Amino acid sequence: MRLHATREEIESVCARIRDFGYKVHTIEGEERVVIGAVGVGDVTECLESLTAMPGVENAVRISAPYKFVSREFRQERSRIRVNGLEIGGSEFVVMAGPCSVESERQILTAAEAVAKAGARILRGGAFKPRTSPYDFQGLEEEGLKLLAKARQATGLAIVTEVMSDADVGLISEYADILQIGARNMQNFALLKAAGRSPRPVLLKRGMSSTLKELLMSAEYIVAHGNPNVVLCERGIRTFETATRNTCDLTAVAVLNELSHLPVIVDPSHATGKRSLVPALSRAAVAIGADGIIVEVHPWPDKAASDGAQSLTPALFHAMMQEMKPYIELWKQARGCGATA
Ligand code: PEP
Ligand code: MN
Repeated sequence: MRLHATREEIESVCARIRDFGYKVHTIEGEERVVIGAVGVGDVTECLESLTAMPGVENAVRISAPYKFVSREFRQERSRIRVNGLEIGGSEFVVMAGPCSVESERQILTAAEAVAKAGARILRGGAFKPRTSPYDFQGLEEEGLKLLAKARQATGLAIVTEVMSDADVGLISEYADILQIGARNMQNFALLKAAGRSPRPVLLKRGMSSTLKELLMSAEYIVAHGNPNVVLCERGIRTFETATRNTCDLTAVAVLNELSHLPVIVDPSHATGKRSLVPALSRAAVAIGADGIIVEVHPWPDKAASDGAQSLTPALFHAMMQEMKPYIELWKQARGCGATA
């Protein structure tokens, strides 16, 4: 719709779309309303009819199978708002914290350390997807309460994983961002439930998933009502054994071409090795990611999960310092640097 299209104009366009037999999905942006029509019908006739209506700026057919998340649908990059912060905007957003929430002392120590080093969002799993049923499964609701305490103590927003559609309501009460993990990228019941949540979603790429599949999963969330999705490249399965996964960094550039959604990189799960995390984090900045999610544990040797890939607070602080000049270049490239 045009910039200042009236409510009546918007309503008549929606009605016309329904007359043609399509379902209407309206996305209310800050500046303009975009109306999506999904379904099967006479496309050419519908487009012609809509183009002529008052208030309509343009009517186009989106050829990609993922409609709302595609660049064809929206040319400008999406900015996802979380607690006064924007992912996909003028800041390279660093999310950091332990793999799992283990105790009050652990999460508060981690939160304070990562906040001090410049992270804006605290990560920490309360519900953990573990390969073995005998491994630590997470503190569940107790863990969510500890995350809320850490948010109160530091002001950091919280991102935490939701593994089941049944838990979306509970986790949405505590978390600022819902994380959908690699293993659940195609859990369609979960994607639909996350689509009904008021919280933004961090959707991780499945370890054997194509980028098209990732975008189709994001489309599920958006189609069910939640436009606030952040994509995450966290490494995929390949024949290589030197690293836990193989980071498909090119995916960031590809996703930026195909979609308007923000994209972040997880250098911890991508490598599985703490020594490799700083190099990959710098690479994520260079390729134009919108941020990173990094595992940091106050005592990695004692971590209940993913200790080998977790940075100590001191290593995280050093990495954040080293990243500063890269992030300055990133800002200039985005047109929002100090000298831009
Ligand atoms: C995690 O973030 O701790 C996690 C389990 O990640 P992934 O789903 O990418 O394996
Ligand atoms: Mn982990």
